[in-house]
Amino acid sequence: MRIEEDLKLDFKDVLIRPKRSTLTSRSEVDISREFVFRHSGKPYRGIPIIGANMDTVGTFEMARALARHDLAVALHKHYGEAELVRFFKEISGAATVFYSMGIAKTDYEKFRRVKEEAGDTITHVCVDVANGYTKMFIDFLRKLRDNHPQIVIMAGNVVTGEMAEELILDGADIVKVGIGPGSVCTTRKMAGVGYPQLSAIIECADAAHGLGGLICADGGCTSPGDLAKAFGGGADFIMLGGMLAGHAECSGEIVEQDGRRKMRFYGMSSRTAMEKYSGSVAEYRATEGKEVLIDYRGPVENTLRDILGGVRSACTYVGARKLKELSKRTTFVRVARQLNEVFGA
Ligand code: 5GP
Repeated sequence: MRIEEDLKLDFKDVLIRPKRSTLTSRSEVDISREFVFRHSGKPYRGIPIIGANMDTVGTFEMARALARHDLAVALHKHYGEAELVRFFKEISGAATVFYSMGIAKTDYEKFRRVKEEAGDTITHVCVDVANGYTKMFIDFLRKLRDNHPQIVIMAGNVVTGEMAEELILDGADIVKVGIGPGSVCTTRKMAGVGYPQLSAIIECADAAHGLGGLICADGGCTSPGDLAKAFGGGADFIMLGGMLAGHAECSGEIVEQDGRRKMRFYGMSSRTAMEKYSGSVAEYRATEGKEVLIDYRGPVENTLRDILGGVRSACTYVGARKLKELSKRTTFVRVARQLNEVFGA
């Protein structure tokens, strides 16, 4: 047994220190980014925020709504083949949409069939599993990269620099970073495993950038300020679940509670999701996600305005004319956590 004594940080442990700025208005800030992906060589331009591939959030409707603002979506894994083919053909060139898959043989076969039909309209793929540290995952990633040299691959999830490097060397253009921080994730509680998300971002970004790779910070953002901190810490992309949940473009069921409209939102490893897609929770495993009811918020448009406005505002406070400059201009100040926050008093 070993104990790592280094301090590891979450979003709530820091604030961004303001810096002298010559910007006069938030409208002067450009929050889009341009990248050329390491393996696929494909260019990217857009606002680097991705709707999560959860079945409530990663929907066709969300993809269309976010595309209007140059944001991306990772579609959830449970769409049927015919509807996926239809969607990719229809949206081709007009949006960044990730086809999502796990690493089972059936996942790969489904992808192969959909890709055969949809052809080059599928340009981005997200391969994710709860634990990106297994040999099986690495073997899958290598095979995918060998067979599809021109596809942009986002792969994860991991939380440490050495594994971010490994995934990039195995073929990932973008490494997805986050174990345990998700709003409906219970991994930290159920397995005791995880890593404070801001430190995971800082360490993985440093490792990935050293190899010309990119990272996507996945999970744990609960406010626009958290996105600013994630970008400030070095995230190239950010994936959002909870912040995009509860909208008209989501697929969750709407229910009435105390006279208010609420929407069901649940983790993809929750009992709700497992019963929906596998019929039950397998005997050997525990659920690592939960279900919550969140306020129904109507079209995602207004929420997007808040999110993008918050990120723009952070840029003006530190004098970053472009989102690209935010991490270079970020100094985090550590904040003392209140005892009542630590102990829940
Ligand atoms: P959020 O933005 O809601 O904080 O986090 C979204 C991320 O949580 C997803 O992209 C995914 O990585 C993660 N996630 C979604 N469902 C589950 C789950 O049931 N269990 C765990 N451990 N993580 C989940």
